Parts: sequence; structure tokens; C-alpha cells
Amino acid sequence: MEITFAGKRAIVTGAGKGIGRATALALARSGAEVTAVTRTQADLDSLLKECPSIRPLCVDLSDWEATEAAFKDLGPMDLLVNNAACAPLQPFLEITPDQFDICFNVNVKGALHVAQIVARGMKARGCGGSIVNISSQASQCALENHAVYCATKAALDMLTKVMALELGHYQIRVNAVNPTVVMTKMGILNWKVEDVVNSILFLLSDKSAMTNGVTLPVDGGFLAC
Ligand code: NDP
Repeated sequence: MEITFAGKRAIVTGAGKGIGRATALALARSGAEVTAVTRTQADLDSLLKECPSIRPLCVDLSDWEATEAAFKDLGPMDLLVNNAACAPLQPFLEITPDQFDICFNVNVKGALHVAQIVARGMKARGCGGSIVNISSQASQCALENHAVYCATKAALDMLTKVMALELGHYQIRVNAVNPTVVMTKMGILNWKVEDVVNSILFLLSDKSAMTNGVTLPVDGGFLAC
């Protein structure tokens, strides 16, 4: 199955490193016009060296007003990958209000805000679109010292379903990809960023035209046990 994104405009958040960076590069190589969003300019500079066609956008997505201003001239988008997140680790009894707010601001509120901006444009143009939220196995599986992170990803799963319900009226599909967490020796050996990127590309593409509102584990069957 070949997936091409020729003629599509895509935006990827958290594209400076890791899964977001690999997704931005894969989309660009598959023909999409890609806007890469992150908050560290040096990461955008190195990404552009690797792929000069990518359009950079530097903003801290935890800042609602700054995001609004940065996205003002974004232009039309067909595809969104809501990937930016942070994962501060604390024992449950030591979580502070600040740590809670920062994590929810990026992982949930930031994703909601970017999706609002992009989906409003999709609705206005009437051409539909596809949004993929990058969640985690941690939305469904308790992890030591990850209480806030797990809660943000559970919230993102539910946000995905309600977005799918409401935005479906405008032919905008919304799905989530839930990768496993690399914590074990086996996980490090067997888990590849490409496995996650391939699932993201499938859900963004028309090959998944009948798939809406799912949270897709990419975990080698971990959650099935
Ligand atoms: P990385 O930490 O490697 O990359 C995250 C990217 O998001 C970085 O470029 C980071 O920029 C950016 N980012 C973070 N906060 C903000 C912000 N406030 N504004 C703008 N950009 C921001 O993450 P991964 O690639 O590991 O993870 C990507 C996604 O996959 C996340 O949603 C994560 O929760 C999920 N995931 C990851 C797993 C893993 O094992 N890696 C497992 C399951 C889910 P900067 O570096 O400048 O902060």
C-alpha cells in the first residue's frame, strides 16, 4: 500500500525531536507541504537543513495567546499531527500545582487549541481533513511516577473521541495513536519510531477514510495482556 500526500498541507507540532520530527520528515518525503512547530529554534534550524522545504514555526504551545498570534497567518491545512507533549515525572504525593498546570497546558489544552485553529479553517473551506493526536499507552495503563502524564493522555483520548463526533459533521476525521513507552531493554530493542510514524501516516491518509474516533495502540500487544 503506497501512501502519498502530494498536494496536501500538513502541520506537525513538537516537530523538533523524536516522533514529531520523524513524522514531519516522512510527510515531506511523501509529498506534503509541511509546517513544523516547536519551541526550540535550533531544532527547527537543523530540521530545515535536513529538509529545506519544511516551513518552521517557533512557539511555546503552552502559551494560548502566543499560539494564537503565531498561527494567525498559517493558511489552509489538510492534516494535523498534535504531537507536542511533556512528561515530567513525580511521585504522586509530590506533585505541585505548577507541574500539573504545565503538563495539562501542553498535552491537553495546547492540543485542543491547535486543533481548534486548524479545524476552523478546514470547516470554513469545506474540504474536510484528518487530525491525529499522539496519545500514549499511558492513557490506559498506570505507570509509576506518571500520574499527571497518564491523566493528560487519558484526557487526550477522550478529547479525540468528542472531536471525532463533532468534527465529523465537517468531514474532519480525528484519531489518536497510542505508542508504548520505551522503558525496558526489550522495548528499546523492538520499538522503532517508524512503527509509530507508519500508523500516523495511515490515519492521516485516505486509506483510513472509514476510521474515526479510534485510539490506536502501537505497543506490540502490550495492552492486550
Ligand atoms: P520528544 O521529547 O522527543 O519531543 C517532543 C517535542 O515536542 C520536542 O520537539 C519538544 O520541544 C516539543 N514540545 C514540548 N513542549 C512544547 C511546547 N510547549 N511547545 C512547543 N513544542 C513543545 O518526545 P517524543 O517524540 O518521545 O514524544 C512525542 C509524542 O509521543 C508525545 O506526545 C509523547 O507523549 C508521545 N509518546 C512518546 C513515547 C516515547 O516513548 N517516546 C511513548 C508514548 C507516547 P523541546 O525539546 O524544545 O521541549
